[in-house]
Amino acid sequence: MDKTCADRVSDIVLEDLSVTFPVPGGTSQVLRHVSYTFSHEKITALVGESGSGKSILGGAVMGLLPQTAVITGAIRFDGRNLASSETDFASVRGKRIGWISQEPVSALDPRIPVGRQLTEYLLESGRLDEPHWKEAADRQLEKFGLLPAERVRTSFPHALSGGMVQRVLTAMVTLPEPEWIIADEPTKGLDAFVRKQAAENFRRLAKQGTGFILITHDLQLAAHLADNVLILYAGEVVEKGPASVVMQRPAHPYTQGLLRAQPSQGMEPIRGVPPDMSRISEGCVFANRCPIADKMCRAPHPETWHVTKSGSETTCRKTGG
Ligand code: SF4
Repeated sequence: MDKTCADRVSDIVLEDLSVTFPVPGGTSQVLRHVSYTFSHEKITALVGESGSGKSILGGAVMGLLPQTAVITGAIRFDGRNLASSETDFASVRGKRIGWISQEPVSALDPRIPVGRQLTEYLLESGRLDEPHWKEAADRQLEKFGLLPAERVRTSFPHALSGGMVQRVLTAMVTLPEPEWIIADEPTKGLDAFVRKQAAENFRRLAKQGTGFILITHDLQLAAHLADNVLILYAGEVVEKGPASVVMQRPAHPYTQGLLRAQPSQGMEPIRGVPPDMSRISEGCVFANRCPIADKMCRAPHPETWHVTKSGSETTCRKTGG
């Protein structure tokens, strides 16, 4: 995508976005009241433990949640509220907003050579003529260092390494030149070398003007790649700000716990378990695991953002600025 096109890319704006699923005996609100503007000029990472709501948020923006999901609030993109109709989701999914799934192997059809899968969308949509698909596939494979391109093009997914499949999927998602990419745990299961290669590919795409949302539990990847981070816990954003600030001077006790749980910090786990999302109390959502919680933390209170001296924002009323 050239700079002129990049200038026209719309931001993705979430307004009070919530997602609820029916569960036996009630409902489970797995994402609560998220408001945020994803700037296409910044790489934003969504970080949190499993079940924190980060993949739900990504799936909501892509319109990929199960039909039982009830979405309230708005997902604004290019003058439309994507959350208001499946037609709007379908008009941008894959074309203007691409999705890199956390299971690259299952995203590819094992029966079809990867080069054909790579170009299928462009062929179907008439943006590529049948006689030229091989050249288009080879050009794209070469861009992602998948060499020799002809051999990769004719290979079936099972014949490629995990790192190569991940790059094939990224090549496939970026071929239609979407304005945005949402990558859900894109480096899961990859070794350190391939992870670094993938991160470089993502950075290159972002530099070329593609808006980028990274969903990860890997704080190192987020610190390395992202400009901004949102820290999610139990379906809520609890801290946000520039990645360098949040990673170096985390304000919320949950973010501090996530950092202490990193291998480089001694892998000290956060004690306790997340709350039952069908029975969230009105006090601080982290209170049952927080090492400095007091009675006030458990009292009902409206969500308020506190700006820290370092420039990040946190919902913690004790550690906020
Ligand atoms: S508000 Fe209280 S319980 Fe919640 S994170 Fe802050 S100190 Fe911990």
